[in-house]
Amino acid sequence: MDTHFDAVIIGAGPAGTAAAIGLAQQGRSVAIVERSEFPRRKVCGEFTSATNVDLLDRLGVGAEFRRQAGPEVRRVALFAAGEPVEAPMPQGRGTAFGRALGRDVLDGLLLDAASDAGVTVFQPCRAVDIVRGHAAATVAIETAGAVRQLHAPVVIAAHGSWEPGKLSSNFARINRPRDFLGFKAHFLKAKLPGDLMPLIAFPGGYGGMVWSDRDRLSLSFCIRRDALAAARQASPGSSAAEATFIHILKFCPGVDEALRGAELAEGWLAAGPIRPGIRPAYADDIFRVGNVAGESHPIIAEGIAMALQSGWILAAQLGKFDHWDSNARAAAGRAYSRAWRNQFATRIRLAAGLSRLATSSHGASLMHRFISQFPTSLALGARLSGKTKSVPEFTA
Ligand SMILES: Cc1cc2nc3c(=O)[nH]c(=O)nc-3n(C[C@H](O)[C@H](O)[C@H](O)COP(=O)(O)OP(=O)(O)OC[C@H]3O[C@@H](n4cnc5c(N)ncnc54)[C@H](O)[C@@H]3O)c2cc1C
Repeated sequence: MDTHFDAVIIGAGPAGTAAAIGLAQQGRSVAIVERSEFPRRKVCGEFTSATNVDLLDRLGVGAEFRRQAGPEVRRVALFAAGEPVEAPMPQGRGTAFGRALGRDVLDGLLLDAASDAGVTVFQPCRAVDIVRGHAAATVAIETAGAVRQLHAPVVIAAHGSWEPGKLSSNFARINRPRDFLGFKAHFLKAKLPGDLMPLIAFPGGYGGMVWSDRDRLSLSFCIRRDALAAARQASPGSSAAEATFIHILKFCPGVDEALRGAELAEGWLAAGPIRPGIRPAYADDIFRVGNVAGESHPIIAEGIAMALQSGWILAAQLGKFDHWDSNARAAAGRAYSRAWRNQFATRIRLAAGLSRLATSSHGASLMHRFISQFPTSLALGARLSGKTKSVPEFTA
């Protein structure tokens, strides 16, 4: 098998596959390296806002997304202590509303579309080293103990932000009391209205619920490490996910009601700590997309959108250059970094503020009181978080 490509992409989440398909559609030779076998489940609420449906079409998976995803989300709500409050979901261009599709389905559709577009897929295969050279980089990939090397002028880190690793684009391990850990499960036979997506706010954390594909209700949440320790003390013998779930049920009557009598499907998943923040989108001559470039607190459920869109925007910027020599890479890196900030910086800051408010000692109650008085603030929050902001009309 050929080991020389125009681009090597590390990670086949939505960011990596969007970049891969965008570049393959330009006629570039692309390799994508994914360490896990698909289908794989993932900690994620699975909601994708309506502004991405056009992009999913351009990536070749729009029809399957429409066929398989859960119902349209037309209303948002806040489930905290007290009565639930709700508001209409703001609409962007067109008539579509956002919907949720399991990551065990969506990521597989995108990777199949990449393969159909001509991308060479190395899976299951872990990238373990990147050596950057002037003309090309060498990426070492490992499977079952055997290492081989791929060569390309462009390297794209799309490996997410929650796992430690040996690459220069991986993040150092952290363990701080104010880190947030993420959990997720699917439930069957839940009672939430089909078109409603509640934001859940509880002491020390936040989360969300939404109907996904195959009548699965996705419940996902993040909790601060110190609040998790307290929740575990209150529920001795429970796992971290179960203890947080019990903590949420005690505090949020809306969640308790929606899940009374529901059945847990496939068990809990855990991940983290999550790494919210804005980071360089191009550094050390490595392009970064999705969570590697920046991450919003999942309180606004925009991570998949940011992953898909950043991969697509990068492909479009690289597409402006015929030959990817070091000058072209640097120029594409500068343009991509600017476009990235324009598209995503506001929602990352908004999500950080909302998360601070929701998880502060009286924040969830304050938020609930304010939104009860001004329910339209829920819709405004959804708009500011990017729910109506389309991907720029680049041609990749
Ligand atoms: C609790 C919670 C709820 C959330 N809910 C939502 C939501 O409802 N909507 C939303 O839009 N976002 C949500 N998010 C955020 C969303 O899940 C992420 O932002 C999104 O998955 C990022 O996509 P990505 O492609 O950057 O990375 P990932 O999806 O993490 O994909 C990275 C891929 O790289 C692979 N990989 C890692 N290291 C290597 C390596 N060395 N070699 C090869 N492969 C590697 C991994 O196996 C993985 O498949 C949520 C997050 C959390 C924590």
